Amino acid sequence: MFKIDQEIFNVLFEAVSEGVIVVDEQQNIVFTNSSAEVMFGYQKGKLLNQTLSILIPKNYHAGHGAHFNGFMKHKESRPMGRGRDLYGARKDGSSFPVEAGLNPFEMDGEGYIMALVIDISVRKQQEMEIQQLNEELEEKVSQRTKELSTTIDKLKVVNIELDAENKKRIEAENKIKNALKKEIELNELKTKFLSLVSHEFKTPLSGILTSTMLLSKYKLEEQQEKRDKHIETITNKVHYLNNILNDFLSIEKLETGNVNYKVSTFKLSKVVNEVVYSANMLLKLGQKISYPENIDHISLTQDEKIIELALSNLVNNAIKYSPENSTVKIIISQDNKNTSIQIVDNGIGIPEKDQKNIFNRYFRAENALLTQGTGIGLNIIKTHFENLGGCINFKSEENKGSTFIITIPNIVK
Ligand code: ADP
Repeated sequence: MFKIDQEIFNVLFEAVSEGVIVVDEQQNIVFTNSSAEVMFGYQKGKLLNQTLSILIPKNYHAGHGAHFNGFMKHKESRPMGRGRDLYGARKDGSSFPVEAGLNPFEMDGEGYIMALVIDISVRKQQEMEIQQLNEELEEKVSQRTKELSTTIDKLKVVNIELDAENKKRIEAENKIKNALKKEIELNELKTKFLSLVSHEFKTPLSGILTSTMLLSKYKLEEQQEKRDKHIETITNKVHYLNNILNDFLSIEKLETGNVNYKVSTFKLSKVVNEVVYSANMLLKLGQKISYPENIDHISLTQDEKIIELALSNLVNNAIKYSPENSTVKIIISQDNKNTSIQIVDNGIGIPEKDQKNIFNRYFRAENALLTQGTGIGLNIIKTHFENLGGCINFKSEENKGSTFIITIPNIVK
């Protein structure tokens, strides 16, 4: 049949670029086109009547028989070598990758298989090159990633070092800033002190001067009473000046952090008696101090000097801001934790609008400006009490009076 239709086959198959190989059931090659001959390196017609195995590399021969028989059983068109790489063998013994489609057909009762073969060397080569390029690329990427992560690690270390250095710098800066702030505050304090000295010290000093001048004039023995009066005036004014100086020293100590509290156990009655004794000298005409006399059982483990300073400040204020003939009351109570001391007066009181500022340094209420004072005392007391675990509060109504309440732990914390 091939002889009869030779012309038609030639026209059809020479036109296609794929290699066409037809074999019979015994695997004899009965037809090839030029493409197949060129592909496998044979001259025209040299493949005819050869067995198919000459086109298959030797190392695939063993498996090929089984594949061929299997195909012959089912005989349906399909691509060859599913899932496997296929190779063809050239005449010179070299092999090359192929793709093949198998098409069985029958003619005159005989079975044939037509294989369409494509040489995929170029494609395979390109695939291999692409794969190689890909591998190289992956290698480069992983190399770069490694380098990058090393750089990042180094950067992290540098960052941590920078952070630490920055922290140190900020700390140092803060220290300097704080020192500067303290310095400025101390300078302000000194300036304030100078201006206060020039104001506050003038009147008592000239009072002292007048009294000493007058003292020298009362020479007669019967003028002792007058001399005593002037001596009392001088004593009071010296006390007053002394208190201002003490207040300033306290602020400076509190500001510079140089306060060393001296804690001891003492009877509160002792402190109260001393405060009342000194305050008696400041009393205005008809003023009285009422204080509990049966408090011998009350003891404190605190800084005695600070409690005395605070109490005398509050009692002196109560006297200073109360009219003649009024009474200043000291009320004391103690429970198992705290001791509370109230100083009650019926004086000028503190205007409501000024109450929020009363513990601010140098602040003086509007209605107190005609009375001598510095606005320091309450501020110092508050700081001391906070340092000693206590607190200070007050209630006040203008023109009615004020009550200052201090609460301190029986034993300093
Ligand atoms: P100073 O009495 O020297 O002005 P303080 O710090 O002791 O300073 O008191 C601050 C301000 O609080 C006073 O100027 C005054 O306005 C007000 N103040 C304090 N105690 C009393 C009081 N018992 N009655 C009325 N006002 C008071």
